Amino acid sequence: MNPTQKPLILNGVELRSMNTFGVSSVAPLFSEIKSVEELHFLREKGFFDHSLPFVLGGGSNVLFSEKLTRPILKAGMKGVKILSARDGIVRVEVQAGEQWPALVEWAVQKNLGGLENLALIPGTAGAAPIQNIGAYGVELKDLFESLNWTGFSNFSERTFTAEECAFGYRDSIFKQELKGAGIVTSIVLRLTRENHTLNYHYKPLREYLEQRGELKPDIRRIFEAVVSVRQSKLPDPAVTGNAGSFFKNPMISEKQFNEIAELYPEVPGYPDESGFVKVPAAWLIEKAGWKGKRAGETGTWDKQALVIVNHGRAGASEILDFATGIQKDIKEKFGIDLSPEVNVIR
Ligand SMILES: Cc1cc2nc3c(=O)[nH]c(=O)nc-3n(C[C@H](O)[C@H](O)[C@H](O)COP(=O)(O)OP(=O)(O)OC[C@H]3O[C@@H](n4cnc5c(N)ncnc54)[C@H](O)[C@@H]3O)c2cc1C
Repeated sequence: MNPTQKPLILNGVELRSMNTFGVSSVAPLFSEIKSVEELHFLREKGFFDHSLPFVLGGGSNVLFSEKLTRPILKAGMKGVKILSARDGIVRVEVQAGEQWPALVEWAVQKNLGGLENLALIPGTAGAAPIQNIGAYGVELKDLFESLNWTGFSNFSERTFTAEECAFGYRDSIFKQELKGAGIVTSIVLRLTRENHTLNYHYKPLREYLEQRGELKPDIRRIFEAVVSVRQSKLPDPAVTGNAGSFFKNPMISEKQFNEIAELYPEVPGYPDESGFVKVPAAWLIEKAGWKGKRAGETGTWDKQALVIVNHGRAGASEILDFATGIQKDIKEKFGIDLSPEVNVIR
């Protein structure tokens, strides 16, 4: 830790500019750390004495309630380091506060394969393992080696392998047993230097490339295709507040899927190995008539029904009421429980 730059502990910090939903909320206590040593400094200063802090990255998967009671600890550690390059695999260590979209661009520029499908996912590297971020047929777990994590109970550092992270669909141990229990300080990824595994079979990506006659794209073209498809569908949080998909895609039994398919033969479903069928939440929400619907300052995005947006000055309660309305309606119409992907913080 640079002795002249100790982390500040601030009271009453407005978080509107620190969450992509753009909601107003005030952190009773706030600090940003740039290193693990700074974490220990905060501990000595009593930052952790009253309640466990909420660890904040880029704020692109959170909805802060109007009355926040927990301290906010922002992960601001920076640095990207190549650890080794051997047998076609480049191992890269990334500090938690690095911006994910910039990391993906860096890898594509260096012709390192693996991250291109995850282009333009807002947020930080440290948050990527929390929900095992995924897009266009690739998930973080596909290129993940390990991470460093410091728990708030004893402040000792621990390394987690991919297996120990227990990654699942938008899930990991850090959303289950270890939810809120510590901070990811860095992650290690395994990228390819040659013989890249290219994933462009996911429908929207394949269609985009086929329409342009690109039947054998390289990682740069896949990256560009992902960027273009995403920009055409998703609202830019800098313009319209949102936190990406508000709900997870529900997994339902084959029996329930067949019952829905009798009423709606066109319902899309993707069976997985465990015998469950993943149904796109966006399809359900659109079918129920919620796409592009507006209620006061909130609503769903007109090009992607799964995204709830803040049209201006919506607060968390207005957004949550709207989301609850969607959940109730989907339950009534399809018998399916939608669970939020976004982390609601009180
Ligand atoms: C327009 C848009 C599109 C999106 N598209 C996708 C998508 O395609 N796929 C996808 O998976 N997600 C998507 N998201 C969601 C979001 O980008 C990811 O979840 C991202 O990983 C969140 O990063 P963040 O740094 O903003 O995390 P935050 O929102 O700050 O935090 C999210 C969670 O991670 C925890 N956390 C953050 N940093 C750390 C850390 N260092 N240590 C421990 N816990 C931490 C927080 O406590 C919280 O529980 C999208 C969001 C937006 C706004």
